[in-house]
Amino acid sequence: MSLEGRCACGVIKYKLNASPMIVHACHCRDCQRLTGSAFVINIWIERKFVEPGGADPKSFRLAGGTGKPHDVFFCGACGTYLWSRYHGAPGDFLFVRAGTLDNPDAVTPDVHIFTRSKVPWLDLPPEVPAFKAFYKIEEVWSAESMERMRRARSAQT
Ligand SMILES: [Zn+2]
Ligand SMILES: [Zn+2]
Repeated sequence: MSLEGRCACGVIKYKLNASPMIVHACHCRDCQRLTGSAFVINIWIERKFVEPGGADPKSFRLAGGTGKPHDVFFCGACGTYLWSRYHGAPGDFLFVRAGTLDNPDAVTPDVHIFTRSKVPWLDLPPEVPAFKAFYKIEEVWSAESMERMRRARSAQT
């Protein structure tokens, strides 16, 4: 799978050189605020598979829900948020916002998280796992994605 995306003004483009490890729909308050919307769709992927093109994104640091920092990357020209990096978990991963893909239909959420703050008017599909907060990775992820996680973590140490 090769997915491509860009910011609204187009000075930042990117390409994903692997399929997502998992796709999250996150309904937490931080994601609602950062997107100005009901939830965010994040592609969890190794940073090395995100091939940036054009200008370098700018970033700022937030205190994440876990107490570990969370860096958010955005276009300095148009302000589109492209991806985040969470420091809470080991491994070098990015969370790429699926709404910035040229074809956002290419991915669908594998899991809905932090549904405790989901907007009440939104009904989730019953066949997709949903959790009030986070979940245990080994209970949700495919064996292949678990193996990618293990490799990315051991590469970092
Ligand atoms: Zn831009
Ligand atoms: Zn969130």
